[in-house]
This record gives sequence, C-alpha cells and structure tokens, in this order.
Amino acid sequence: MRHYSPRKRVLVTGGAGFLGSHLCERLLAAGDDVVCADNFFTGTKDNIAHLLPDPHFELIRHDVTFPLYVEVDEIYNLACPASPVHYQYDPVQTTKTSVHGAINMLGLAKRVKAKILQASTSEVYGDPHVHPQTEDYWGHVNPIGIRSCYDEGKRCAETLFFDYSRQHKVRIKVARIFNTYGPRMHPSDGRVVSNFIVQALGGEPITIYGEGNQTRSFCYVDDLIEALIRLMATPDDFTGPVNVGNPDEFTILELAQKVIALTGSKSEIVFRPLPSDDPTQRQPDITLARKVLQWAPATRLDDGLRKAIDYFRGAATTG
Ligand code: NAD
Ligand code: UDP
Repeated sequence: MRHYSPRKRVLVTGGAGFLGSHLCERLLAAGDDVVCADNFFTGTKDNIAHLLPDPHFELIRHDVTFPLYVEVDEIYNLACPASPVHYQYDPVQTTKTSVHGAINMLGLAKRVKAKILQASTSEVYGDPHVHPQTEDYWGHVNPIGIRSCYDEGKRCAETLFFDYSRQHKVRIKVARIFNTYGPRMHPSDGRVVSNFIVQALGGEPITIYGEGNQTRSFCYVDDLIEALIRLMATPDDFTGPVNVGNPDEFTILELAQKVIALTGSKSEIVFRPLPSDDPTQRQPDITLARKVLQWAPATRLDDGLRKAIDYFRGAATTG
C-alpha cells in the first residue's frame, strides 16, 4: 500500500466511547494518525471534542455492522456497547455489532494487511467456576440468557479472529478486558462504578443489585490503555488471548462503602433484585500479561475512584 507519511495510521472503532476516547488521545500523543469510527450509540462527540482540532485526528460516523474502506496500518476494534443496560436495549444489534463488526473489521485488516486488536471481555468466562480466571479456561456461559447477546457475540468475535489468523494469516491480538472505570464514563452508563458515584454525589440511594456479595476487580482506565498499546506492539506470533485488568477483587458492597467514604456522601444503601446470570465472582489472573506485556496495573482502587469522583463532580457542574 502507498504510504507517504512516517506516521502510523490507526483506526479505532468505538473511538468516541469511554475506553476509545482515551485510546485515541494516547495514540495521537504517541504521534500516530488516528481515524475514529463510531455510530454514537453509547459514545458521544463530547468525549473526543478536544481532539477534533488536531489535523492528525479524523472522525467518521460509521456503524461497524457495515463494511468500512479506509487505508490503515493498525485497527483497535472497540465498537460495542459495554454496559448491560445498553447492550440489552437492542440485543440483536449487540450481537450484530460483535459478529458482523468483527467480520467487517477483519476483512478490512486482511485487505490492507493491518494488524488488528479485539477488545474482548472477561464476559467470555461467563459466571466462572475457575477463580481467578486464566486464559485457558473455556468459561461457563448461558447461551440463551439476557447477557448472551454480549457474551456469545464476543465469544464468536474471538472465534472469527482466530479463524482469520489461521485461514488468512491476519495478524491478530485479543485482549480480554476486565471491569474498567474512570473519567468519561457516561453518567447514565449504568455500570456499577459510575452508578454509585453519580448516586453518592447526588445524595440518591446507592442501588446494590442482590446482596452485594458478588465480586468484581476494577482497573483504572489509564492502566488498561497502556496494556492495549503494549499488546498491539507485541511480536506477530503473540496473538493472546490475554487477560488485562486489575487483580484486586472487591465485593460490590465494599465498593459502595468505599464510594460513600470517598465522596463523604450521606446516601443510604438500598438493595434491588439481582439481574439474571449476573456473575458471582470475577478476578483476572494476569500472569501472562505480566510476562509478555511486562505490565501490571499501577493504580489502586481508592486512587482511581478519587480521580473518577473528581471527573463526575466536574461533569455535574458543567452539565
Ligand atoms: P462504551 O459504550 O463507552 O464504548 C463503546 C463505543 O462503541 C461507543 O462509542 C459506541 O457508540 C460505539 N459503538 C457501539 N456500537 C457500534 C457500532 N455498531 N458501530 C460503531 N460504533 C459502535 O464502552 P467502553 O467501556 O468504552 O467499551 C469499549 C470496548 O471495550 C467494548 O468493545 C467493550 O465490550 C470492551 N470492554 C470494556 C470493558 C470495560 O469495563 N470498560 C470491559 C470489557 C470489555
Ligand atoms: N451493580 C449494582 N448496582 C448498580 C449497577 C451494577 O449492584 O447500580 C452490580 C451488578 O449487578 C454486577 C456488578 O455491580 O454484579 C457489576 O456490574 P456492571 O454492570 O458494572 O458490570 P458487569 O456485571 O458486566 O461486570
């Protein structure tokens, strides 16, 4: 392919979302030309408004369930709603986004010989019986439940990535991302960290689903983005899948108590029904990431929560 610029040309699908906007920012800072493709289903222009004046940043309104023709060297495929509330809003579209989106982006990677990274998820392990989760665990996933559009869509996307690698020699990287939080989560995103912070700052009741003894392991966004960039830079024979996340595990009740303490909120905790198929435990084993990416998360939960709380305080005052 003709390529006159020394800059790497990088496509980020879902680039106007929470993780995508941080990734676009980091790639631009590293001197890359960035193409952000997003249909704004859960992402917003506000997330990337500060990048628009940069001549090396380009925004395309595009739905990845349709083919895309751009000339790039690397692709980060992040397009997909990640919050259960949003991915369950139109579950058929969620599966299409993962599956047709993967086919379209892998087809693009094949045509332009680009390297491609898939934002997969800890949800491929479902409600795991192996704890902490290692990459060789095949998971425990309900194929017909309300989370299946997301879980099975992401599992099928992984299958497509590995088949394009074996069949068409496409250079792939698969990251299994565990719960990540931080600035630019949408206040109405619906995931637990943003919900609790927004509720605490607004003096509203903190809604715990179930009894709050289910666990999650929360990774701060900057740590996560660093892992994705390192993964993309690994030698071609390293495909993953590789777990990326913070192994420090907390119950949802502990998270609620931390958010109340850090915000100084007077909010009470209320208990709501647990949605079906809600995983009871989740913790990444990051031995592989430590070894291959020379990476481990650097941000403790309290420190990351303080930064997220500052962001949501500002978001509340600026509307
Ligand atoms: P997000 O909802 O903030 O971002 C997703 C982005 O994809 C949004 O900008 C949305 O508008 C866009 N999008 C959705 N469907 C699209 C389509 N059909 N075509 C084009 N764009 C589309 O969520 P996020 O937390 O930034 O997640 C980004 C990626 O990382 C997702 O693929 C998600 O599954 C994965 N992931 C995230 C987490 C996490 O904790 N944040 C955990 C595991 C996996
Ligand atoms: N959760 C909760 N209250 C909320 C939102 C979520 O108790 O207001 C719980 C949810 O049931 C789950 C955990 O927090 O057990 C993490 O939920 P999230 O939607 O953030 O991510 P996921 O379930 O996909 O890990």
